[in-house]
Amino acid sequence: LTQLFRPLDMLGTVYRTLRQGLIDMAAMFSLIDTEAEVKDISGAPGLLVHRPTLAFDNVVFGYEPERTILHGLSFEVPAGASYAIVGPSGAGKSTIARLLYRFYDPQAGRILIDGQDIAVVTQESLRAAIGIVPQDSVLFNDTIGYNIGYGRDGATREEIEQAARSAAIGGFIASLPQGFDTEVGERGLKLSGGEKQRVAIARTLVKNPPILLLDEATSALDSRTEQDILATLRRISRGRTSLSIAHRLSTIADADRILVLENGRLAEQGHHTELLRRDGLYAEMWARQQAEVELTGEAAE
Ligand code: ATP
Repeated sequence: LTQLFRPLDMLGTVYRTLRQGLIDMAAMFSLIDTEAEVKDISGAPGLLVHRPTLAFDNVVFGYEPERTILHGLSFEVPAGASYAIVGPSGAGKSTIARLLYRFYDPQAGRILIDGQDIAVVTQESLRAAIGIVPQDSVLFNDTIGYNIGYGRDGATREEIEQAARSAAIGGFIASLPQGFDTEVGERGLKLSGGEKQRVAIARTLVKNPPILLLDEATSALDSRTEQDILATLRRISRGRTSLSIAHRLSTIADADRILVLENGRLAEQGHHTELLRRDGLYAEMWARQQAEVELTGEAAE
């Protein structure tokens, strides 16, 4: 009987991995209506990640044939580095994330992780290597422990507790009368935006991926909570390769490198201070956001 159930079990794992990725991507990039466009090639090997480098090599992509969105985009994120992508609305930031998670294949060029073309490895292994922390994570109507353990099938209670501590939500959970067995979601305890974000971070830590894809648009949080969450994200990014899709520039000012995207092309790249000195698109976007911050009276950080 066990023999009979093993394949089913495996299918469950694959399904869970894919579904979780899809759910988080859906939350991050409004992908609910996206159909599966890509298929594994037959006999595709799994992605093997030793040094999690990430590269776009001359990537050309459009959702429709008559409209190209990315025009031969190339960049490389070294293993362990934190890069951020910024740019005006519609520049193609989320498209980069969708391609990296292989919701679509480029029309030309390649996307490489640790030197391997992501189009020729299994989607399951690709998605297992990438952790997504979306701005607005989806919680299941289940216990808080289940919601964290969902990051990886077979996660032990110890791993879940450790992840909760690293995501700085361990103390909060310990203060609940039922601890990790507390029901959350629609019928259970309502968590604040910041607490939900921390559950999502803990879920990603349980998955322990070498690559992180972060959506740092934490505008739904008050600025104190936002700063706390950002500090946690920075901490968990250490030792991993991370790519942040940023809408607010203040959240990524300390990235190792900022890629400034304009109409699907890299307009500028560099560190925050270099880009300010350049006095180009980034400096202009920065000045505009600072002015908005002053107008709304929020803390300038
Ligand atoms: P924002 O900051 O507003 O989120 P973005 O830089 O993330 O913008 P993308 O979501 O990558 O921009 O979109 C880039 C372009 O691709 C836009 O012009 C958008 O209209 C178009 N686009 C996005 N998704 C689709 C789709 N599913 N079908 C057709 N066009 C799309």
